[in-house]
Amino acid sequence: MKKLSELKLLQSIKTGKGLIKLIFSLRTIRRTEKVTDVKRTALTKKQRERVLEKTDAHCHICGIKLEPNDFHADHVKPHSAGGIHAENNYLPSCAICNKLRWHYSPEEIQVILKLGVWAKTKVLDESDLGVAIANHFVKHEMSLRQKRKGSANKKEV
Ligand SMILES: [Zn+2]
Repeated sequence: MKKLSELKLLQSIKTGKGLIKLIFSLRTIRRTEKVTDVKRTALTKKQRERVLEKTDAHCHICGIKLEPNDFHADHVKPHSAGGIHAENNYLPSCAICNKLRWHYSPEEIQVILKLGVWAKTKVLDESDLGVAIANHFVKHEMSLRQKRKGSANKKEV
């Protein structure tokens, strides 16, 4: 019930400060409701095949085509939120989507998608804000690539 009121709150937000407060509030709820004692077990090969069949071998988030030996079985209800180890709690996803989805709550994912779609429109209209978002985002991505390159080089040594 608490989460439903948070969604209503999203619709009633009137200031940027309100949005920031909502995002912090959703994070706090996720962290306080975190379940740590659910046993993690791996899916069998047959179970993974059936999970992949659910979407005809496409990522359930972005829709990209997946290979049978290269996909993630994504918890629909996050493991950290008490999501159980059962086939009906899994959908196939690509590595990128699975990593970005992390263990955010559904409410957090909705806010993230809304923010992302809105930011994309700002980038496309090439407003000052859009250009700033684009520049900061690319800088951030380049920094991540450098870090990955750095850690890959360390492994080779
Ligand atoms: Zn994907």
